[in-house]
Amino acid sequence: MPVPPTPSLPDPSDLGFDPETLRAKYRAERDRRIRPDGSGQYQGVAGEFESYDEDPHADREFTREPLHDRVEAVIVGGGFGGLLAAARLRQAGVESIRVIEKGGDFGGTWYWNRYPGIHCDIESYIYLPLLEEVGYVPKWRYAPGEEIRQHARAIGRHFGLYEEACFQTCATELRWDEDGSEWLVATDRGDRIRARYVVVSSGTLSQPKLPGIPGIETFKGHTFHTSRWDYAYTGGDADGGLTGLADKRVALIGTGATAIQVVPHLAADSRRLYVFQRTPSSVDVRDNRPTDPEWAGSLKPGWQRERRDNFLKVVTGVRTDQDLVNDSWTSSARLQEKLIPTNAYTDVPVEERERAYEIADFQKMNEIRDRVADVVEDPETAEKLKPWYRYMCKRPTFSDHYLQAFNRPDVTLVDTADSHGVERITETAVVVGSVEYEVDCVIFATGFAVGVSGLLSGQLPAYGRGGLALQDAWRQGGPRTLHGLYTHGFPNLFQLGPMQNASAVNFVHILDEQATHIAAVVAEAHERGAAYVEPSAEAEGEWVATIRQKAPDLYRFHAECTPGYYNNEGRPRERSEQFGDGPVVFHELLARWRRDGGLDDVLAGAE
Ligand code: NDP
Repeated sequence: MPVPPTPSLPDPSDLGFDPETLRAKYRAERDRRIRPDGSGQYQGVAGEFESYDEDPHADREFTREPLHDRVEAVIVGGGFGGLLAAARLRQAGVESIRVIEKGGDFGGTWYWNRYPGIHCDIESYIYLPLLEEVGYVPKWRYAPGEEIRQHARAIGRHFGLYEEACFQTCATELRWDEDGSEWLVATDRGDRIRARYVVVSSGTLSQPKLPGIPGIETFKGHTFHTSRWDYAYTGGDADGGLTGLADKRVALIGTGATAIQVVPHLAADSRRLYVFQRTPSSVDVRDNRPTDPEWAGSLKPGWQRERRDNFLKVVTGVRTDQDLVNDSWTSSARLQEKLIPTNAYTDVPVEERERAYEIADFQKMNEIRDRVADVVEDPETAEKLKPWYRYMCKRPTFSDHYLQAFNRPDVTLVDTADSHGVERITETAVVVGSVEYEVDCVIFATGFAVGVSGLLSGQLPAYGRGGLALQDAWRQGGPRTLHGLYTHGFPNLFQLGPMQNASAVNFVHILDEQATHIAAVVAEAHERGAAYVEPSAEAEGEWVATIRQKAPDLYRFHAECTPGYYNNEGRPRERSEQFGDGPVVFHELLARWRRDGGLDDVLAGAE
């Protein structure tokens, strides 16, 4: 199926709705939710809330002797980014690789998040990395979390990463040792590990956050965050069967992508479920199905790369004759430009394009709202579940069971938009609109602090040449990198993540492209006997200038959006750090850079 690069502008009289009425409704709904404290409304899971961060899966008694040794590469983070960095470095000939990971095993997001109903809403055949290398085809089109976690472990085994890995360990400091030309990595278990290369891939949504609801600390019942699901309390597993809740009244706070997957199980298994909603998600059709064995058997070598590249092209509007994945993401491609910039739609004048997008957006959201009205029997509840904002203001979600759960007599939707969220929590109840909902258990589906890497947040301090702290190097004028991956003054130190480069909804694909690039640079350093991989200040300056020059102006779009983490809770940043031409062009740029002598500028010194 050919993919149209630009939407066409329909005749206004054919629309069946009035755009200005919708615009006004969106504005009013946004204004109801804007809070003066912005992202300050949230709190971390430290101090008196640190029990929310406890690892329910790891051995709490675990101890080991500190390590004082040397490896070739340390990877900080054992999620897919870290695993991909390790796998690609292994393929490039790096023999000694140590992954340092806070959790008790590999998996990252999929290690921590094991809540009932957990699935990945990006097609499994393109989301799970290294499928052909590991020799695996996922069992479902949209994979359950446990299958993904097991695949992360399979990658660990396949690439021999378990032997040297340090689990239940956090890197606490990176310090460049000029004399030894290597990094000294300190951890919270007293390790002092020397490494020639360090790759930091500590995740973007990894730190659970809690709302600063007054009285939250006074609740005397049971409570936890969805990313640390307490099966010891609820019983069951990720497939449901939460028998421990049969006699419990449960409050679920939050209705984002996580809650959408959790609610059907809580609804089925709790005595009574209250879902506290501030902003409804858009909930599209899921249509999950088992993998067709005939299709799996017909796959030719290279199939995953081809499918993944095709998806990236389609969702970023790059002209292509096929849509191999052909799902809700690819059919809403044009709407995603508001989150993931691309230069693919420039053949239509900006104003005309903006109008066409807005109309397409209204049409998509009308479909989503119509679905709510069709599925949810109680009109008042249905009205509350309708999302009034543009499609990419919030993470789109997909479920064939979420809306249906509100037809059960034992499930109540409590709308909290007028009070800007749950008003108060007491020893026994969650309070909204002066109604006290008495509950036994409060579950927070309230998401994660948004980060790029421990390097950017300062959680993992790095001291480069001359003892300069990376945070100080970036204090004036913000982060400076080449391709988002490395920085002058910090040799052989790489970070993975969405900063000063290109992103995509299939973020694992992005991580793989970054890991592959880093491994190619390291392989070339070995080949040439270069001691350092380090961009010059000029190369870095040029890249930052390119990012600024191509930065898309998304401010207006995000300012008009309902608040959420996509727009910094209603206070969008003026400046985008994304590569404006999009991921396909960015990946081509990296390949060209490697081919056309870019490496000459970053490789220096003799081994
Ligand atoms: P989100 O940040 O998306 O959602 C948090 C929810 O908590 C929102 O509904 C928010 O409301 C609500 N909330 C926050 N404070 C309050 C309050 N004081 N009172 C009432 N409600 C409150 O977190 P999720 O864990 O759902 O998702 C995080 C991200 O994880 C997703 O965006 C997605 O990127 C990823 N994810 C991906 C999945 C996949 O399949 N690939 C599945 C699940 C998650 P409001 O919207 O009004 O702020």
